Amino acid sequence: MSARLIDGKAIAAGIRAEIAERTNHFRAETGVVPHLAAVLVGENPASEVYVRNKRKACEGCGIASSLHRLAGNASQAELLELVATLNADRAVHGILVQLPLPKQIDETAILDTVDPLKDVDAFHPHNVGLIVQGRPRFLPCTPHGCQRLLQAAGVQTAGAHAVVLGRSEIVGKPMALLLMQKGAVADATVTVCHSRTRDVAAITRQADILIAAIGRPEFVTADMVKPGAAVIDVGINRLDDGRLVGDVDFTAVQETAGALTPVPGGVGPMTIAMLLENTLQAARWQTPPAR
Ligand code: NAP
Repeated sequence: MSARLIDGKAIAAGIRAEIAERTNHFRAETGVVPHLAAVLVGENPASEVYVRNKRKACEGCGIASSLHRLAGNASQAELLELVATLNADRAVHGILVQLPLPKQIDETAILDTVDPLKDVDAFHPHNVGLIVQGRPRFLPCTPHGCQRLLQAAGVQTAGAHAVVLGRSEIVGKPMALLLMQKGAVADATVTVCHSRTRDVAAITRQADILIAAIGRPEFVTADMVKPGAAVIDVGINRLDDGRLVGDVDFTAVQETAGALTPVPGGVGPMTIAMLLENTLQAARWQTPPAR
């Protein structure tokens, strides 16, 4: 059996085209240009690429973006001040603080300072709390992107056993929350595995839907996948030979899974599309209705 490819690149392109259309309407109706402010501290090459791609995607959708750089040795106070300035700037609707931050900066303290209405990554505790309660304001970009991939691929989530590999605040934990909620592309029975889980393979083999988000190159092998399962690979790992691979052994798992995302071209483009969606939504919420 050969798995159906879930083409995140194509699905994200369709979503971006839709967002561009909605942004156009919004701009015509209100005269307001949605604006995403990206904050980059230091010179992490991967972060540079992520921010560049996010800004390019904004441009393609009629969303303005600005880049705010601080040196790698910037202090926490300097970054807090920058975030406060962006919070107060009425022309800025979304704030993205690119992670990871340098060691001298307390990431949590920074993310806690972003205005929850501009928190397009959905990292602020207020927004996370709303997600936990099943009444989200912003949906977290990567988990929401995975959900949209499952939807686009026609994967039945209600009643399905979904196994999430990884429990990070950015991917694993919110992913589990979204899938266990009541509602569309949810209502799954969710198991979360992490580095202390015993016999991970015995659990993943029970998964109708397997989401891999652990940052371990090609960790998920064919014998860990139930025949016909839908497998979403969130991992992005750079090998020593320069190749980019996911957390799933794509070639082997392709023979077992029913549907599978590639890396690159799977979850990555969806994360960016969901960020654009949140930025447009943030601009709507911050724009008073016309009288
Ligand atoms: P992270 O913060 O490092 O978390 C990794 C998680 O995996 C942790 O919960 C860890 O368990 C668990 N884990 C590690 N080794 C394991 C093992 N052998 N068995 C079971 N669980 C294990 O990583 P992250 O930020 O969630 O990112 C995960 C991957 O997704 C990375 O490759 C990252 O680059 C990628 N990513 C991609 C996108 C995208 O848009 N495509 C977005 C974000 C992240 P403990 O909690 O016990 O340590």
